Amino acid sequence: MKRIAMVDLKSQYEKIKPEIDQAIQEVIESTAFINGPAVKNFQKDLEAYLGVKHVIPCANGTDALQVAMMALGLQPGDEVITTNFTFIATAEVIALLGFTPVVVDVDPDTFNISPESVRKSITPKTRAIVPVHLFGQCADMDAMMEIAREFNLFVIEDACQAIGADYIFADGSRKKAGTIGHVGCTSFFPSKNLGCYGDGGAIFTNDDELAKQLNVVVNHGMVVRYYHDYVGVNSRLDSIQAAVLKVKLARLDDYAAARNKAAEYYDQAFRNHPNLKTPARFDRSTHVFHQYTLVTEGIDRNALQDFLAKKEVPAMIYYPVPLHMQKAYLDPRYKEGDFPVTEHLCRTVISLPMHTELDEEQLEYITSSVLEFFAS
Ligand SMILES: *Cc1c(COP(=O)(O)O)cnc(C)c1O
Repeated sequence: MKRIAMVDLKSQYEKIKPEIDQAIQEVIESTAFINGPAVKNFQKDLEAYLGVKHVIPCANGTDALQVAMMALGLQPGDEVITTNFTFIATAEVIALLGFTPVVVDVDPDTFNISPESVRKSITPKTRAIVPVHLFGQCADMDAMMEIAREFNLFVIEDACQAIGADYIFADGSRKKAGTIGHVGCTSFFPSKNLGCYGDGGAIFTNDDELAKQLNVVVNHGMVVRYYHDYVGVNSRLDSIQAAVLKVKLARLDDYAAARNKAAEYYDQAFRNHPNLKTPARFDRSTHVFHQYTLVTEGIDRNALQDFLAKKEVPAMIYYPVPLHMQKAYLDPRYKEGDFPVTEHLCRTVISLPMHTELDEEQLEYITSSVLEFFAS
């Protein structure tokens, strides 16, 4: 059996090696390393794939979130609501820019931001909501957009884990994750669903004016060359990464299908297990399974993780600590027990290997290893 990895980028690369190598070689030959044609080509492909008017490439997903918040003109002291159960980057940029992160609890089944909790947290200072489409499934965007209209707020989608997922509106129409709010953000970190071979990110919007401002902010706040109207940043997707991404974007839907196949295998194996809750599917979203995350019950999930490690099955805890309990983000407004769903998930979740190259032999070994833990 092939060694099991949490994410197997090597096997994936081997299948597309000639195309990737040629794409990289072409950039090197052209020496157009920064903002070369490869960046423009990928940008156009991604706009077409997402059905969005503007894709602004940038250096990583964290920058995408930061640039989005800068371009929207939020001011220090503004409150930005986000989910308590996410990767730190979401809250980090809010704090870094001098805004106030307001964290809210999540839905126990989908792990995504709870619309009721968002409503309860709105104050006269609230300016934006950042829903995170966690683990590859969209948050309730009908509810987010409705709340945003009612209170005149911006919606910044963190689609770092959900590129390619479809949101299905109440009327049955569909839009891609990240293209529903005022602005959407994604990451091309290697292990993300559309990963490059280094760092990368992008920002999406259908708003022409906002797109202009996003392009200005990523480029040193420069409107006319060497005239700087705003304080900006330097955040670019380099040409080699764009060339890699163009090759992989053409396969993104196949990659999502492979991830779903693995997820269904896991579902089948753990169905009706008294100690394991398989991931719920939200009826308003397709799932692209950035992670396959089980909620455990009545066991020590760290003991399960150790047991699996001994059998050379990697498993990870995403995420062990809620934002409001992180040392850097401790806030007198919050204490342990304030976010019961998030806190429960942080104590009980475990994510199994999930990537595009899992074969049946590996899936059989992983699932039987998990089940063996309960027999031992
Ligand atoms: C990965 C990730 C980010 C940050 O992306 P980077 O490219 O690593 O900066 C932000 N938010 C979420 C939810 C992520 O998973």
